[in-house]
Amino acid sequence: MAAADTRAVVLRTHPYSESTVIARLLTEDFGVRSVIAKGARRPKSRFGALLEPFTDGRIQVRFRDDRDLHTLAGFDVGRSRQGIGRSLRAFAGASLLAEILLRTGTEDPHPDLYAAVITCYDALTDGSEPDAVALGGIWSTLSVLGFAPRTDQCIRCGRDIDPGEETGFDPAGGGVACATCRPRGRRLDGVFRRELDALCGSGGRIEALDDPRLHRELLRAHLIAQVDQDRPFRSLDLFLDSPA
Ligand SMILES: [Zn+2]
Repeated sequence: MAAADTRAVVLRTHPYSESTVIARLLTEDFGVRSVIAKGARRPKSRFGALLEPFTDGRIQVRFRDDRDLHTLAGFDVGRSRQGIGRSLRAFAGASLLAEILLRTGTEDPHPDLYAAVITCYDALTDGSEPDAVALGGIWSTLSVLGFAPRTDQCIRCGRDIDPGEETGFDPAGGGVACATCRPRGRRLDGVFRRELDALCGSGGRIEALDDPRLHRELLRAHLIAQVDQDRPFRSLDLFLDSPA
């Protein structure tokens, strides 16, 4: 069977045998896939670059219809992203994005999602504004996958929210709630909501944020209520508390 060719980025790897690894990849044309890379752990292996998370490149893969694990036939490294490790916050954000993709991604082709993830990982490698960049990558990914919070209408009464109005945030309801509906918890002003909307639509690109800590806390509340399904994200606490 001919090998399929697509772009891919490494989300996670784990050893399978002494010389072999299983890599979980986000591909441009086939969604999230697991491949077995024979010999990857041997010195000078052509698959050695796969062992670094967030590396991208072109892969050739032989799909097997009857299995979830496919065979990697080739890997041409595009960009390695060891620079992400220079900032703990950037590394935590990149890892959290990878976890979210592994948890929620499908096998459908998703060029927009792939582009947003690569944009985010490139910007984290380049080192500017790790909070805004990671949050932009994560929120735009959640939006593409249908997990964006509702910010234009109150999730309880359905009333349109005025741009300058202060609202609450209802994680379980998946969005903002107006003052009349007496939401508990965090208060969000218009500036914060505009930033949140921008992050969701950013494709991974946004300027510095007014209150990055509040953004990280809101993301945590949203992930726990809407996405994690009682399986906590391992990178979440690190992303919340690590130095930028
Ligand atoms: Zn309301």
